[in-house]
Amino acid sequence: MLVPFGRRRQLGLVLGHSNESSLPAGKIRRCNEIVDESPLLTAADLRLIRFTSDYYHHPVGEVVAAALPALLRHGKALHPTVETIAVSDVGELQDIETLAGRAPKQAELLEALIDAGGTGIEADRLTEELPNWRRAATALFKKGYITRFDVRASDFDESLTIAAADDLTLNDDQQRAIATLRSSNAFGAYLIDGVTGSGKTEVYLQRMRDIIDQGKQVLVLAPEIGLTPQLVARLRNRLGIEPALLHSGLTDIERLRAWRAARSGAARLVVGTRSAIFTPLGNPGLIVVDEEHDHSFKQQEGLRYSARDLAIVRAKHLDIPVILGSATPTMEMLKHCRDGNYMHIRLPVRAGGAQPPSMRLIDTIRTPATNGISQPLSDAIESHLQAGGQVLIFLNRRGFAPTLICASCGHVAGCERCDSRLTVHARSQQLRCHHCGATRVLDTRCAECGEAVKPLGEGTQRLEETLRTRFPDKTITRVDSDSTQKKGAIRDVLEQVTQGGADILVGTQMLSKGHHFPKLTLVGIVNADQGLFGTDFRSAERMAQSIVQVAGRAGRESRRGEVLIQTAFPEHPFWSTLIEGGYEKVADEALREREATRWPPFTRLALIRSAAHRHNDALEFLEVAKRYLAQRVDETLRVLGPVDAPMARKAGRYRAQLLLQGSDRHILHSLLRELRPALEREPGARKVRWSIDVDPIELF
Ligand code: ADP
Ligand code: ZN
Repeated sequence: MLVPFGRRRQLGLVLGHSNESSLPAGKIRRCNEIVDESPLLTAADLRLIRFTSDYYHHPVGEVVAAALPALLRHGKALHPTVETIAVSDVGELQDIETLAGRAPKQAELLEALIDAGGTGIEADRLTEELPNWRRAATALFKKGYITRFDVRASDFDESLTIAAADDLTLNDDQQRAIATLRSSNAFGAYLIDGVTGSGKTEVYLQRMRDIIDQGKQVLVLAPEIGLTPQLVARLRNRLGIEPALLHSGLTDIERLRAWRAARSGAARLVVGTRSAIFTPLGNPGLIVVDEEHDHSFKQQEGLRYSARDLAIVRAKHLDIPVILGSATPTMEMLKHCRDGNYMHIRLPVRAGGAQPPSMRLIDTIRTPATNGISQPLSDAIESHLQAGGQVLIFLNRRGFAPTLICASCGHVAGCERCDSRLTVHARSQQLRCHHCGATRVLDTRCAECGEAVKPLGEGTQRLEETLRTRFPDKTITRVDSDSTQKKGAIRDVLEQVTQGGADILVGTQMLSKGHHFPKLTLVGIVNADQGLFGTDFRSAERMAQSIVQVAGRAGRESRRGEVLIQTAFPEHPFWSTLIEGGYEKVADEALREREATRWPPFTRLALIRSAAHRHNDALEFLEVAKRYLAQRVDETLRVLGPVDAPMARKAGRYRAQLLLQGSDRHILHSLLRELRPALEREPGARKVRWSIDVDPIELF
């Protein structure tokens, strides 16, 4: 509803009501207007919101805001009218070519509207496709070529429903898995821990079908829908249902439409990214979290929640099952399985008879990687291509070269606003800071000693160039966040690659996510070493996850896949653990080590971050927090810091952090509950930006 707020009217959300108030009658004002006649959220939805606010120590108003689609948050009604523009009868008769000569923008808009026909195009959609369309529209309105009208937002339309493809006959492991999943329709957390290509998706597809046949809804959370169009297509084809999608690539009105369909229960299948966990569901039956290990489930700013963790909480509140799938499950999930809280369902072999890929190291001390690619890797590429296979070269970075290092004095080009190194972008001849976005022209001389400098290291662009030189007659496609910034670009590239239209793929993490490229037989990992010496207690887990995920793209059909890893440290024990024991062994060792060293999942963490223009303000604020905690600390809690953040300066601010490590979650949370208001009252709080990150995933 709209309420008076000073001299303005603001949107307010009613979370509860009461017949009395401790405020004097004169302080209470009437609301101006009620926007929605019936509540947007149910008691169950509010329960999740209250839990989130409480667990992540974040104001409830901001949690509600995160849970609502932008239009509702900005005061639109649940069924808003939509401004629509359409061509008029006169407009339709105009000659586009003639108009284009005089007014190209007007011609562009008119042409789009003619193509759209009588139903017109929503203003929101136009804003997205032709950002400054309104100026052109004004002129066209005057001439009477176009009209505008309001329509009531249409409802979600499942009429696209297609004939569902038949289920595959499950293998023995899959049958055991589905039997376990079918054992109950009540709450239970099920971890499907299966090697890549083991048929996890197939199993939960069949479980989803059960639930949908019972007339209930399924909510699927996926890492980034833009990156996993194959998943959406597969769900659509196999279940024969048009899913209601909730992700960042939608217009506000599209998102509201999907949200409304989820809320009413009309959409039986709802697929979304992280924030979709808050979508109200009229008739929930199952939640699925695909690629549970993916970092995108954790929001890293503002309300720092984990959608994966909230999925489990929500399933419990609703008393429905939750399925978490991954080939590389996190230690958190594995520990819950060991403790008997979650069901551990294993699929140890690839379905449909495909062999697991073989994995081998290339020692780059003995056979150096000139321009990123060693001779043995180059030879392997040659032979896989000759055998008609596709090749994927994986690099854990983006840009042409990570840094600009001076060969004479060793000076590294750094960001002036952050303590980070700048990344070279060869094509645009720029240096770019990937932390604050600062950009400048690429140096030709060292800022320190004045000698000529050249980019060093291997970014994806550089690798692409090396490969072009060595394999001039092959099609080489680069996939990274720079090459796929345009909307839909990633989908087109993936489609092209799936059809076999690329011989060599060069790319970053984007390529490791769940894709199925039938012809791909060789994966080359060119710079695996950073993770071996990482300072974060999660480095080994992360490194194993990214290697196993990308390796899983190889040999998914009849031909066996091969994975070659270039490393300067072939003797490092991490490699033998991974190659001989697989992810499972890496996970076992990581869990043992974490238990001994008291890191999560054996303890719980909360990170308090502060940032200020003056270094001392950032630290002093955390000292206050530490002193406050010191009065209350018991043996279950350790307070580490305050210390400078791993990147001690970012965008001109000094950053520091204080880490709380608790072996008792309840004690940790009750301390945070006291700490937050105490810190808010602190005078020093005005000089800093600060936040609490519960269960942080980026520490160092
Ligand atoms: P995951 O999700 O574990 O990576 P998928 O469900 O995508 O595995 O299955 C991998 C491939 O194996 C797919 O092409 C899928 O169609 C196929 N597949 C899965 N289960 C079976 C089965 N029971 N019989 C034959 N092929 C299967
Ligand atoms: Zn910077």
